[in-house]
Amino acid sequence: MQNRFKLIQVLLVISINMVLGNTADTIHYLVDLTNVKDDLFHVTVYPKGLTTSSNLFNFPATAPGIYTNIDFGRYIKSFKAYNKKGNEITSFKKNTNQWEIENPENVYKIEYDIEDTYDSSLDTVKVFPMCGTAIEDGFIILNTFGVLGYFNDKQNCSITLTLNYPKDYLLGTSLEKAGVSVYQAENYDKLADSPILLGKLSKATTYVNNIAVNLFVYTTDSLFRAENIIGIVDTLLQSASNFIDYSPVKSYSFLMCLLPDSIRMRQGQMGGGALEHNQSSLYFLPADMNELSMLKDVVIHEFLHILTPLNAHSELIHNYDFINPKPSKHVWFYEGVTEWGSTVAQMRCGYKSLQQYLQKITDYLRLNDAFKKDYSLCEMSLESYTNKGRKTFLNFFNRGAITAGLLDIRLLELSNGEKGLRELLLSLVKEYGKDKCFKDEEFFEIIVKKTYPEIQDFIDKYICGTEPLPLTEYFNKVGIEYIYEKPADSDKPSIGSNIGMNDNGEIITQGVTTGADYGLKEEDVILEIFGEKLTIENIKDVLDKKNTMKIGDHFPIKIKRDGEEISLNGVMSRFIRRHVFSIMENPTPDQLVLREVWTRNL
Ligand SMILES: [Zn+2]
Repeated sequence: MQNRFKLIQVLLVISINMVLGNTADTIHYLVDLTNVKDDLFHVTVYPKGLTTSSNLFNFPATAPGIYTNIDFGRYIKSFKAYNKKGNEITSFKKNTNQWEIENPENVYKIEYDIEDTYDSSLDTVKVFPMCGTAIEDGFIILNTFGVLGYFNDKQNCSITLTLNYPKDYLLGTSLEKAGVSVYQAENYDKLADSPILLGKLSKATTYVNNIAVNLFVYTTDSLFRAENIIGIVDTLLQSASNFIDYSPVKSYSFLMCLLPDSIRMRQGQMGGGALEHNQSSLYFLPADMNELSMLKDVVIHEFLHILTPLNAHSELIHNYDFINPKPSKHVWFYEGVTEWGSTVAQMRCGYKSLQQYLQKITDYLRLNDAFKKDYSLCEMSLESYTNKGRKTFLNFFNRGAITAGLLDIRLLELSNGEKGLRELLLSLVKEYGKDKCFKDEEFFEIIVKKTYPEIQDFIDKYICGTEPLPLTEYFNKVGIEYIYEKPADSDKPSIGSNIGMNDNGEIITQGVTTGADYGLKEEDVILEIFGEKLTIENIKDVLDKKNTMKIGDHFPIKIKRDGEEISLNGVMSRFIRRHVFSIMENPTPDQLVLREVWTRNL
């Protein structure tokens, strides 16, 4: 279904010739958003310096940070090239994302219409709005890579972009301004790294460690306006900037679409999240007070991406191939280390207590329980563009973060408390930065060279390998006790497992504990329990029956495992908590010393 609406007011009509000038090898884009029909972005491209080798015009398959192919060429509705006299030059669709143009050196302009991804009927699985595009009543998400294509040999050309948009709209972006409604970028990669949010936005500004932070919010709930959100995220950003320790950018823009679930549901948009960029991040999240902690966690995570991959990345990100992106081995580093940083930074600044930090690790571990154990972080990274990889991608934020936390403890131990993972990360950022990259294949070697030979063993076992994470041993080093399973103090009965859902929408066991030693296994499909068929609709009512039962009571349960239906005689057991951490009250002097450095930024 498409939203049809007319935008009436025009901000300014810019004379194209004024902007174009006469510079060689520039690409100028004009996007008219003043009279939008059928959710189409109407784009005109004025290239300078095209040669015979500029015969392909490309729309990205995907962009950095997305790790899945969207194929924006699918959304093209019309495509035409013209010479200076206004005659059409022959062009044809070569494949999903590429248009071939005959005699490109004669091209004066290209005109095309591209549909937004937001409510496109093309996809059964929705493109997350922060990775796609949207033209809605009140706001426009213009991810530049989702609207603007490029000539195959002109990815490094300088760019100007004119945006004509309604007068009552505000525009948020980290793109540099070159005039009224005109923006510029040194090349296509820089343009693609700069999303634009337009609409009836609220705006607030703060300074964090000399970085001018601009927050632009589109919301229908006044509680979530920029002036309110800035107060919530300000302290967090201070934690993040203490962790980063320097100011890698002069300014940073948060671009947020915060909508209540009622609106999101009506628009078929229940998913959401955020996407990081060098000087900005784009958010599509619920406007829900109960979800504030999620908003905070996402904000600090995205901000910390300033470190990696933005200022420490391999050549696969540096020379990004928008058409055939090659997977990096190091998503564990880009996402796992960033997620770890976003939690540990809050603890080290006193924003979260040690106890709260440990609770977050418990959450990571419980979520990690739902993912395959025999799939290493390296494999997950290399297969991130495949179906298998996509299904486990979320675990970079769990297993990736926990593994990073363990690497930190190991580094602190080996350096006698002088350098942890944060210090390694900062030294990588200093050495590489945004303009220099490391070789994907050599990164582990670089890490070992910068640290200790023992780290190779850590990499082999826990990053490239699938050995169980040494939680007990490592947390013990900092005087924290870790227990895999601990019976609860109360007499609360349990069937011995949590409940989840598999890809087929079936109800399955998740996090099976030793309490289910009557025969339940991980990922069994539960067909019947307590004598009733279990469905998504009745799940709560049926499972609530356990509240009337006692530990030791028997109950029937029918499951499906490897296609075979099995009836089990279930036994209610004491509720068992998984992944329990406690701070040791009498740590040894060594434990105390390491704990002290572990809980602060060195
Ligand atoms: Zn991330």
